[in-house]
Amino acid sequence: MPATSPPQTENTWLSQRAQALKPSLTLAIAAKAKALKADGRDICSLSAGEPDFETPAFIRQAAADALAAGQTRYGPAAGEPALREAIAAKLSDENHVATSAEQVLVTNGGKQALFNLFQVLLERGDELLLPAPYWLSYPDMAELAGASVRLIPSQAADGFRLRPEALEAAITPKSKLLVLNSPSNPTGTVLSRTELEALASVLRRHPQLLVVCDEIYEFLLAPGHSHHSLAAVAPDLAERIFIVGGCAKGWAMTGWRIGWLAGHGPVIKAAAALQSQSTSNVCTFAQYGALAAVSGPRDCVRAMAQQFNSRRQRLSDGLRAIAGLKLQPPAGAFYAFPDVSHYGLDSMSLCNRLLDEQGLAVVPGIAFGDDRCIRLSCAASEATIDDGLQRLSRFLQTL
Ligand code: GLU
Repeated sequence: MPATSPPQTENTWLSQRAQALKPSLTLAIAAKAKALKADGRDICSLSAGEPDFETPAFIRQAAADALAAGQTRYGPAAGEPALREAIAAKLSDENHVATSAEQVLVTNGGKQALFNLFQVLLERGDELLLPAPYWLSYPDMAELAGASVRLIPSQAADGFRLRPEALEAAITPKSKLLVLNSPSNPTGTVLSRTELEALASVLRRHPQLLVVCDEIYEFLLAPGHSHHSLAAVAPDLAERIFIVGGCAKGWAMTGWRIGWLAGHGPVIKAAAALQSQSTSNVCTFAQYGALAAVSGPRDCVRAMAQQFNSRRQRLSDGLRAIAGLKLQPPAGAFYAFPDVSHYGLDSMSLCNRLLDEQGLAVVPGIAFGDDRCIRLSCAASEATIDDGLQRLSRFLQTL
C-alpha cells in the first residue's frame, strides 16, 4: 500500500451505501456480552434470539454422514434438489401453501432470503411498507436495495397489532413490498386468521403491492395461538406473497445458516441468479442436516417450543411484577418487549447503564423503532431468566 494512502477507515473509500450501513445491534450486543464474559465479567445475556438447546442429534448425524460421504463440493446455487423438494413439501403440507421445488431457494439463513428478495424486487423510488416495531435488519436491507422505508406504527396498548385501516392509509403508489412478521420479533404479536383475512381484503384493492411473510418463528407459539400463512388464508393472492423461513429458531440451528425463500417462480429464479453471483450455494453438508430436519418428525421442535412457552411465561410474569414497567404479553417467538419509558431514560442509555451497572445485556427498543421499550430474549435457561429479572429490577430501583 503506498505511504500516501488514506487510512482504511477514511470515509472517502466507502460507497455511500456502506457509509449509511449500521452493523446489526442484536449481533453486536450479543458479541459484546460474550466478550465481557470471556474477560471474566459477571454477565447475564438476554440479548440475541438464539436457542440455547443443542441441534437435535439426528440432524447433526445426517450432516456428519453427508460430510463423511463426501458432500463437500459446490452444489446447485438454488440448493440441493432434495432439500428444495422437502421445503416445498413442508410448505404445501404444513403451511397449506401449494409450492413446487422450483419455487424454493435455499439461502444462508432467513436473512439472506430477505436480502436476496429485497435486492431483486426493490429499487430507487420504491417503498418498503414496514409495520413497527420491526426486526432491525429490514430497514437496512431495503435501503441497501435503494428503496425507502415507510413505517406503519402500532400501539403497545393495542397489542402492537397491524390494523387494516393503518395498512390502507400507509399505501402510496410507490409502495412495492409489505413485510409481515408473525410471530413478531420483537413484540411476540401473532396475527390471527381473521386479522390476515382483513389485511388480505386491503391487499386485493392494491394489486401492485407484494408481500413478504417472515415466518421464521412459526413454531414458537404460546398456548391458544396458531400460525397461519397469509398465502393459505388468501390463496388468490398467493402469486404476490413470498415466504421466508428457516431452521434456526425451530430446530435450534442458528449457526448452520439454513433458510429459504419461496414464491413466484421467476422471482425465485432471479434471487438464485443473484446468489450464484454472490455466495454460490449454501454449505452442502449443512443442507443434508437441514434435509433431515425439515423432512423429519416435529417432536423435537415441539419439545423445544414447549420449553420456550414456559420460559416466555416466566419472563412475562417476572416483568409484570416490576412496578412501572408495562408489558404486552408476547404470544409467540421468544422475546418480551416491555415499555420502560416510566423511568425517564432513552432505551440506548438504559441498556448501556444496565450492562455497565448490573451486567445485564438486553437490546434497546430504538433498534426496533420504539425508544420506549427494551427487548429481552427468553431463549435462555430459567436460571438465566431469573438472574436477568433480578438484575433488571435492582437497576430500575436505582432510577
Ligand atoms: N434474529 C435474532 C435476533 O433478533 C438473531 C440476531 C440477528 O440476526 O439479528 O436476536
